[in-house]
Amino acid sequence: MDLYEYQGRALFARHGVPVLDGGVATTPQEAVELAERLGDRVVVKAQVKVGGRGKAGGVKLADNVDEAKTHATNILGMDIKGHTVEKVMLTVTADIDTEYYFSYLLDRANRTFLCIASTAGGMEIEEVAHTAPEKVVKLPIDAGVGVTPEIAGEIADKGGFPADLRDQLVDVFVKLWDAFVAEDATLVEVNPLVRTPEGKVLALDAKVTLDENASFRQAENADAFADASAVDPLEQQAKEAGLNYVKLDGEVGIIGNGAGLVMSTLDVVAYAGEKHGGVKPANFLDIGGGASAAVMANSLEVVLSDPQVKSVFVNVFGGITACDEVANGIIGALQTLHERGEDVNKPLVARIDGNNAEVGRKILADANHPLITVVETMDAAADKVAELANKEA
Ligand code: GDP
Ligand code: MN
Repeated sequence: MDLYEYQGRALFARHGVPVLDGGVATTPQEAVELAERLGDRVVVKAQVKVGGRGKAGGVKLADNVDEAKTHATNILGMDIKGHTVEKVMLTVTADIDTEYYFSYLLDRANRTFLCIASTAGGMEIEEVAHTAPEKVVKLPIDAGVGVTPEIAGEIADKGGFPADLRDQLVDVFVKLWDAFVAEDATLVEVNPLVRTPEGKVLALDAKVTLDENASFRQAENADAFADASAVDPLEQQAKEAGLNYVKLDGEVGIIGNGAGLVMSTLDVVAYAGEKHGGVKPANFLDIGGGASAAVMANSLEVVLSDPQVKSVFVNVFGGITACDEVANGIIGALQTLHERGEDVNKPLVARIDGNNAEVGRKILADANHPLITVVETMDAAADKVAELANKEA
């Protein structure tokens, strides 16, 4: 779960990371009231979950309340890379001497945590890594040890940060790690972390991603940061039905059991699609262990609600839920949707294998349903479903 800057900033403040006083506004009038409280010089910042707001005109400095109002008026409603600005954050302005970059993140590839730090901040770190790689240090963080003051000092030294800031930086690096651990984050990024002309270190931006797998023990954060506007409505519907669904942008709806099988189904469909007009998988949907008519109906309903879907591939390996139950589940599901008044008219390719496969296939064949095609192998089924999607497109 990605947080807005103002939310990340609040988490930083909770852990003692130095941030500037401020607040959020959803209307120019609220911005004026905030600016009056904060004093003359304020920064008005678009709150959207994408980077590069500065370049897009979403970060503006104001010298008085009138200017703050003008900026808030202009920035609210602005479109930044497809995200509409619904809130602005106002903070008191910091004068900047130098901008640095600092982050902790989960490094999946190396199965560890990573600290990335640079004295060349403000711009995108990918760009710095490309143009001046010697200015970017990357240090793995041992989860068992964490970031002690000694390790924080090492980061400051290896990163080439100025010696006179060392004590402040050590303090900030340790506190950011505390925040990272305590909040179950997978990313905390501060860009820029700045030095003011007076030699004070401040976090001027906050990018935080929280690990949703930890929501159960972070109930307060999960509630506080839930963001209805950022959730795909189909993903929401699936979540409510207890399904593991991820929307993709292709044309072939996918329903399978077991994450591994569904992942490989996505691969074979994408591969088969190359021969059929470039159609691609429309979603990931893992129905898990059960394949009852109710689960299948909810799954089909979600997949078919995606207007981009032209055909559906049901790929199930019968285990504890045997294939005859799966076959009855599929037929029952179409019946259920029909009774719910859903207009089901997209072709469905079913490949069922495993426990009681023969019986299951016979049930589907005997049903002689106009929308269902039964194909025995996964590759042939992928080819068929891609062909159908291409025909319907
Ligand atoms: P981003 O472009 O989405 O990463 O937004 P940032 O919050 O990082 O702001 C972009 C740039 O605006 C920063 O790199 C700073 O140069 C500048 N900026 C942000 N806040 C302040 C501030 O309080 N004072 C000054 N002088 N500049 C700021
Ligand atoms: Mn930034």
